[in-house]
Amino acid sequence: MTRERLSCKNCSKPPAPGKVRCEECAELHNLTEAKRRAERRAAGLCVVCGAPAALDDDGEPQSLCPADRETYAYRREQRKQRAKRKRTRGKETRA
Ligand SMILES: [Zn+2]
Ligand SMILES: [Zn+2]
Repeated sequence: MTRERLSCKNCSKPPAPGKVRCEECAELHNLTEAKRRAERRAAGLCVVCGAPAALDDDGEPQSLCPADRETYAYRREQRKQRAKRKRTRGKETRA
């Protein structure tokens, strides 16, 4: 299900197609996000919530905390299921 927005999440301009922000705000958001992620990652924290990141088998911090890893694994699974359903439903819809 997709929600159509009438205006950007950050300003009153129309959002980019299929996005919650206009292109300008999206770009700014991406930059801020990328910086925050890089900082958290460097500090061994979850890039999503800033909690201590999960450790891999070598004891190296990963990019997500255990809770977010679960959330993402779940979402990935959901997406996979959806993709599978779409594929089995039939014909190519992309132009
Ligand atoms: Zn905007
Ligand atoms: Zn987290």
